[in-house]
Amino acid sequence: MKKALITGVRGQDGSYLSKLLLDKGYEVYGADRSGDSGLWRLRELGIEGRVKETYLDILELTNIMDTLEKIQPDEVYNFAAQSFVQISFDQPILTAEINAVGVTRILEAIRKVNQATRFFQASTAELFGSTGSAQQNETNPFHPKSPYGVSKLYAHWITVNYRDAHKLHASNGILYNHESPLRGEEFVTRKLTSSAARIKQGLQEKVTVGNLDSRRDWGYAKEYVEGMWLMLQQPTAGDYVLASGETHTVREFADAAFAAAGFKLDWRGKGLEEKGVDAATGKTLIEVAKEFYRAVEVDVLTGDASKAKAQLGWAPKTKFKDLVALMVEADIKRIEVKK
Ligand code: GDP
Repeated sequence: MKKALITGVRGQDGSYLSKLLLDKGYEVYGADRSGDSGLWRLRELGIEGRVKETYLDILELTNIMDTLEKIQPDEVYNFAAQSFVQISFDQPILTAEINAVGVTRILEAIRKVNQATRFFQASTAELFGSTGSAQQNETNPFHPKSPYGVSKLYAHWITVNYRDAHKLHASNGILYNHESPLRGEEFVTRKLTSSAARIKQGLQEKVTVGNLDSRRDWGYAKEYVEGMWLMLQQPTAGDYVLASGETHTVREFADAAFAAAGFKLDWRGKGLEEKGVDAATGKTLIEVAKEFYRAVEVDVLTGDASKAKAQLGWAPKTKFKDLVALMVEADIKRIEVKK
């Protein structure tokens, strides 16, 4: 039986990966910050209690070493991160300690404890930032535009460096936005799907968002964790883009989410005055406010996942509209269960 250690296990990706590995017969050890926030994800996937909780602090090297010595995992997946781009502007140093130096601590612990342990780092499309090209693959230059992106750039290169210098099996998944019913409501996708569901059920009047013209390459997180696992099954480690290859605006996401909840939106006005109005009743369902705008935005980023397809046999399956619909359905179901 293989053993895996997942940091950030209670987040979206940690939860889906736990389920995938348990289904494959792995013994799964999970570490996360203390408290029970996020346990709902493991519960929804029916695996609460099956992931062996372990204490690991990404800021403490000896603690990571002790954990590796005790568990002796075959594979380590790192999702421990300060994962909010916006917050990284207010907490750039903490973001770096966790997202950048934290990864060095894990790699150094692997190097000291057992160099056969394979390592996956959750890298990100935010590395590209303003890349200057319409579609990006593993060969594009990086130019991150937030402290989050900069911290992840360090993490990316230190992973490559331990692969080159110490011959560790260490891979980066350059992940474009990946969403699901298990996404946190701080992200615009789940904010919109949960709001559409609550508005539909009469529990909320409207939702306020930021830049409706922002575009993202949105895929389905459940499929992305399969790509991550595949990276660690290869004879040699490497870096791979995982992406849907399409971008959509926040406005298009809102249209799809509200359509899945049974609304047709009419868009009226421009900029901060723009509103998404229920075509049937004329009621405002979506408003725009400056507080949700970013200080700096990345360029439109579209991923080219052809390397992952050629070498891992990985390709995204769920289409944009189906992804949005399954998120809205899950949010509606959650409300019905609570009633
Ligand atoms: P990110 O790509 O990891 O930053 O994911 P987010 O879901 O937080 O943001 C995706 C895009 O949606 C960004 O370009 C935001 O500027 C835009 N956006 C528009 N309105 C909102 C909002 O209300 N909340 C968030 N989080 N993002 C918003």
